[in-house]
Amino acid sequence: MSQEWNIKPRARTCAVCGNGFPDGGECVSALFAAEEGGYGRRDYCPDCWKGRQDGGEPFSQWQSTIAPSASAAKDEPIKRETAEALFRRLVELDDPANANVVYILAVMLERKKQLIERDAKPRPEGGILRIYEHKASGDTFLIVDPQLRLDAIGEVQKQVIELLG
Ligand SMILES: [Zn+2]
Repeated sequence: MSQEWNIKPRARTCAVCGNGFPDGGECVSALFAAEEGGYGRRDYCPDCWKGRQDGGEPFSQWQSTIAPSASAAKDEPIKRETAEALFRRLVELDDPANANVVYILAVMLERKKQLIERDAKPRPEGGILRIYEHKASGDTFLIVDPQLRLDAIGEVQKQVIELLG
């Protein structure tokens, strides 16, 4: 199955009422299994989520607060941006050869509080599908946790540090 790693940006407006999400407001996000395979994302205001009629049980669902936009998040150290840029680039490449590095980068970004883990689901093919949300932008990343053995993690961390130069 291709396109396993995935970036799903948060919608600008509620899927039901069409209103924009205000800074500091709450947003309910959900992933639904798509007919063509993979998952589609929809975002809602909390009230619209309660009354939604678009039906079906979501595959995954979480609630978040909309971070104050752009300006506040700009003055971050360059190093943090570099790890995030590498992570985004590798997710977009969607190459299974990078699975371990992508996962370790996700864990690093989670420790730096840039990503929040919203959900985790076992995969029939093995491993775990983890759903991370970018705290500032609301982008969601579907990442496969290859369940590395402890002694393998150190090796992968070395690769990541080399990639970050
Ligand atoms: Zn709404």
